[in-house]
Amino acid sequence: MTTDRRSFLKAGVSGLTALAAVPLMGNLAGCQQTPTRQAAGSAAARKTALTSEKLTDRVTLINGAPGNVLVLSSDDGVVLVDSGSPTMAGAVRKSLAGAKVRTLFNTHYHADQTGGNALFGAAGTEIHAHLITRQWLATDYYVPAEDRWVKALPKAAWPTKTFREKGETKAGAESIEYGYLLEAHTRGDIYVFFRDSNVLAVGDVASPLRDPALDWFAGGWLGGRVDAMDDLLALAKDDTRIVPAYGPVMTRAQLQAERDMMLHLYDRTTDLTDHGRSAQDMLDEGVLNEVSRKFDDPYKFLYDVAKGHWAHYTNFGGNIV
Ligand SMILES: [Zn+2]
Repeated sequence: MTTDRRSFLKAGVSGLTALAAVPLMGNLAGCQQTPTRQAAGSAAARKTALTSEKLTDRVTLINGAPGNVLVLSSDDGVVLVDSGSPTMAGAVRKSLAGAKVRTLFNTHYHADQTGGNALFGAAGTEIHAHLITRQWLATDYYVPAEDRWVKALPKAAWPTKTFREKGETKAGAESIEYGYLLEAHTRGDIYVFFRDSNVLAVGDVASPLRDPALDWFAGGWLGGRVDAMDDLLALAKDDTRIVPAYGPVMTRAQLQAERDMMLHLYDRTTDLTDHGRSAQDMLDEGVLNEVSRKFDDPYKFLYDVAKGHWAHYTNFGGNIV
């Protein structure tokens, strides 16, 4: 019952300083798990350090912000994909050693990715994002898992250039393509593909390290995630380096394996949802034991899966008993 998932679809930096020895207090708050916009400043915080990894002559990956920040160096200035959490964005900027950041892409609205918007936006950086990401950042929103409201970001932090489907731009010699990934993790996810460098940033749509997160309240669901991973697989070549929001650089084969896992879980959990079964039922059935992956919080993952399914049940049959 997977064919209907899409049926509703219309819908290195010069001067990058040594980073390894910069211990900082980082916000441990997970991207989707705790979409806070404030510094944690609590027991949840721990020491973390930025590190960097040079992927190509002009592309560098910064780790530990607390997620990944991708840096493209060009004659026209620096292009960033995501900017770290509010507590780490300053360290990210410092690591660029004064290089002018021309463009910042937000892969989605979560605070771990958009924490530097205000900082870079105030310095004149153009912020590119999906239209829905700007709407989330510009509006107070509710976080059901924590029963609280998050305030809109100040206007200086809002994306300045938005799109609905896809687009292209150049930075020096690099061709950059970007596009929408419908309802994969939030409702505003995008990929950013540095075409010439063959590096593809996918945000939280792939999750090799953490439990795959589905921000169902913001429109993410497992069916969207599988479709989006198919879109990414169509873009990627065998030797494309795929950069998730958290965790190590992935190969196309690793992305394929994660997508196959998600498709299996999609098939099993939509079938159970069709029969009126809950997240606890899915857990009791041992659905997650059928894939070769260990989940840190199996119930939370399945709870979010079930919430997303109920929000989209007309996409997979809709005959829930
Ligand atoms: Zn996220």
